[in-house]
Amino acid sequence: MSFQNPVFIPGPTNIPKHLRKACDMPTIDHRSPLFGQILHPAREGVRKVLQSDSAEVFIFPATGTGGWETALTNTLSPGDRVLVARNGMFSHRWIDMCQRHGLDVQIVEVPWGDGIPADRYQDILAADTGHAIRAVLATHNETATGVRSDIGAIRRAMDAAGHPALLFVDGVSSIGSMEFRFDDWGVDVAVTGSQKGFMLPAGLAITGFSARAMAATETATLTRTFFDVRDMAKGYAGNAYPYTPAVGLMSGLKEACRMLLDEGLENVFARHHRIAEGVRVAVKAWGLELCASDPSVQSDTVSAIRTPVGFNATDIVTHAADRYGVAFGVGLGEVAGKVFRIGHLGSLTDVMALSGIATAEMCMADLGLQITLGSGVAAAQDYYRGHPAAPRKAAA
Ligand SMILES: *Cc1c(COP(=O)(O)O)cnc(C)c1O
Repeated sequence: MSFQNPVFIPGPTNIPKHLRKACDMPTIDHRSPLFGQILHPAREGVRKVLQSDSAEVFIFPATGTGGWETALTNTLSPGDRVLVARNGMFSHRWIDMCQRHGLDVQIVEVPWGDGIPADRYQDILAADTGHAIRAVLATHNETATGVRSDIGAIRRAMDAAGHPALLFVDGVSSIGSMEFRFDDWGVDVAVTGSQKGFMLPAGLAITGFSARAMAATETATLTRTFFDVRDMAKGYAGNAYPYTPAVGLMSGLKEACRMLLDEGLENVFARHHRIAEGVRVAVKAWGLELCASDPSVQSDTVSAIRTPVGFNATDIVTHAADRYGVAFGVGLGEVAGKVFRIGHLGSLTDVMALSGIATAEMCMADLGLQITLGSGVAAAQDYYRGHPAAPRKAAA
């Protein structure tokens, strides 16, 4: 690998220099008002990025996976039923966690490459007249397949069925990069980590709780200690944590939110869409297909690209690292060896994306795929020239 090149994995993402510096700070007393000056703006910034007026934000020294555990253990009790679709490796892992916690998991199997079927959720919820289902789980962006599901449609399905279940959303690879509307979508718990849209090193689990989810914390009986949001809330009231916070990362998070909000969330989402469109026209020019089964579910943060049958897609990733010092993502689970992934989220421009597209072309040509060098780059160049970026402020 080369430290000079950007990475094109869908997390951890490239860390802007400004955020590296924000994380690098001397030790402070983490139970002092000085820490409060980091903690409270960071929580407030996350709330804004979630597009919520009222979400309670809790941030743990953990990763996105710890955020899932926070959602489940604070709101549910052993044996509670949850409804969840499996359409990729990340939803699969969330299901596994639910099962290990002794929840009664009702799984909707979905082909890898498809989005979450809101209509099937609606039928299942409407049939659940006794309201045994306590929570509906949705992976907003399946990072394994490059598929974005429609969370607004899931909320509408729940409302149409008149069902009171809580709605938990894994937004690990969408929050801070793609439209995410905590309040409008009636999300009850949103989960992410620091190393994707927030452009930081891994190390923080970032969650937002609705008032209904907060109420559920009072009756839930799953065991929780480290991730207990009630202990966390008490800590926050005194500018502290129930234990030692990751102060440097929290300082980075405060700045990451400021960067996203300064750019403007609409601009951030538009930038990700634009960059993604350039990657998609390149894939088309190569004569390859995305794993995402339909344009309506194509992700703006990661593209999973199918390679021809008989070709091991993982070879592209290995070769890119060995020969060119560039990181792409491998296929996971059911699509291992069948796809490689280009991550295009976080601190990225179209100019950087062009370098990733060019590198993927070199690798595919080196490995004997029928790729015309420059074909994808030219298609992306045409797209970017025709869709100029909004004028950007000088980098912080
Ligand atoms: C990366 C990712 C996770 C896992 O997060 P960690 O921070 O690695 O624990 C979960 N869900 C999705 C959709 C992801 O992209």
